[in-house]
Amino acid sequence: MPLRFLNTLSRSLETFTPLDSAGRTVRLYTCGPTVYNFAHIGNFRAYIFEDLLQRHLEARGFDVQRVMNLTDVDDKTIRGCREAGIPLTAFTARFKQAFFEDLDALRIKRANHFPEATDPAHIARMIAMISQLEQQGQAYLADDGSVYFRIARFKNYGRLAHLNLDELRPSGRIKSDEFEKESLGDFALWKAWDEQDGDVAWESPWGRGRPGWHIECSAMAGAILGDQLDIHCGGVDNIFPHHEAEIAQTECCTGKPFVQYWLHCAHLMVDGQKMSKSLGNFYTLRDLLSKGYSGREVRYALLTVNYRLPLNFTLSGLDAARSALARIDALVERLERESAVVEGAAPRSTTTATPLVEGFFECLDDDLNISGAMGCLFDWLRETNRLLDTERNPIHAATALAEWRRLNAVLQLQNERASVPTEILTLVEQRNAARAAKNWAESDRLRDAIAQLGWTVKDSKEGALVSPK
Ligand SMILES: [Zn+2]
Repeated sequence: MPLRFLNTLSRSLETFTPLDSAGRTVRLYTCGPTVYNFAHIGNFRAYIFEDLLQRHLEARGFDVQRVMNLTDVDDKTIRGCREAGIPLTAFTARFKQAFFEDLDALRIKRANHFPEATDPAHIARMIAMISQLEQQGQAYLADDGSVYFRIARFKNYGRLAHLNLDELRPSGRIKSDEFEKESLGDFALWKAWDEQDGDVAWESPWGRGRPGWHIECSAMAGAILGDQLDIHCGGVDNIFPHHEAEIAQTECCTGKPFVQYWLHCAHLMVDGQKMSKSLGNFYTLRDLLSKGYSGREVRYALLTVNYRLPLNFTLSGLDAARSALARIDALVERLERESAVVEGAAPRSTTTATPLVEGFFECLDDDLNISGAMGCLFDWLRETNRLLDTERNPIHAATALAEWRRLNAVLQLQNERASVPTEILTLVEQRNAARAAKNWAESDRLRDAIAQLGWTVKDSKEGALVSPK
């Protein structure tokens, strides 16, 4: 089955073919965080879905060139630095660093580029694009000193969001400060400086001011990835107006279709409700880590729901993630232990569980159907345990371990704690033998010996599970 994605633009499943004539390079743009605060788990749901997309494309042999922007100037960052009484760059630096720490904790692969909106080269490109739009009649300078995009001059405006433009026409309910605009839907490309902005301003042909949010992404995507992208991602709340505006700005400047495939992930809810500080159900990653959950557990909970479906996040969901990961850990430990005697030997090419590994990747080919893929993973886990139970063969264990490494290259769920020392493994093996011989006294003696060395051994249906105390 070919790789297919549900394209927001067409609302249909489409076979994926990149623009690159060799069919290998994928140009991927993903809207990044506004660095005025710690990112919350709703943000990370989108970034983890994009990570799955990137890793699956790589597993299928594509070379992914990914850009994620950092919005480091907008109303919120300016308000934040004013309240903190520090310069904008000092204010955003702290949250940029925190963002990268969070990406690492969640095992999200770094993009190739993280352009920043305040980079002088990007500001210059934004100004150049706005000037071009103005010369073409697609933008105009309003009485308030700001420059707006004239949506009436772009016939495809509203196509991505499937909007009826009549709804955007002015009505009697427009706020007074919207009167400078010709049309209610016209959006700001350049915002004139006002005193709230303090010393945050750049010189432009329209006087001092700053870029609008939408033009940032158009300029940075074009600067790094070129006029045309294969895939552009974000959350559903980015579709309108942000992505609609990106299309309008870029296509008016380049005259070419901007993006082939638009992929948007659905909302994250917490305990069935919209996440909000006032409801007390608002979580950053740091909040969850301080409750004793690991980044790996949060990754599992955010990763394993199909991206087009709303995700209902709960703490009991994190507990379920912990149990699921324990099952995976038990098998991986078993594979490491039972394949150890043939370390370095080439694994046999297949086991009876191998079709389930192919099934895992085929599910992901189908618009990243991760719940189907996880079903294959747990079937593979059961089948592998059964195989090792019936035929204790180190070659099977080594083959399955190689399969796990392929799966984990996409999932990034392996436990990274220190490997179990050989001394402990030997005691565990002896204990397994004692249990098989129903010699319970010897089994208990070995459990205590293992405990004295700082490890605990727990029996599960997947076999003995060893972990540091
Ligand atoms: Zn964006």
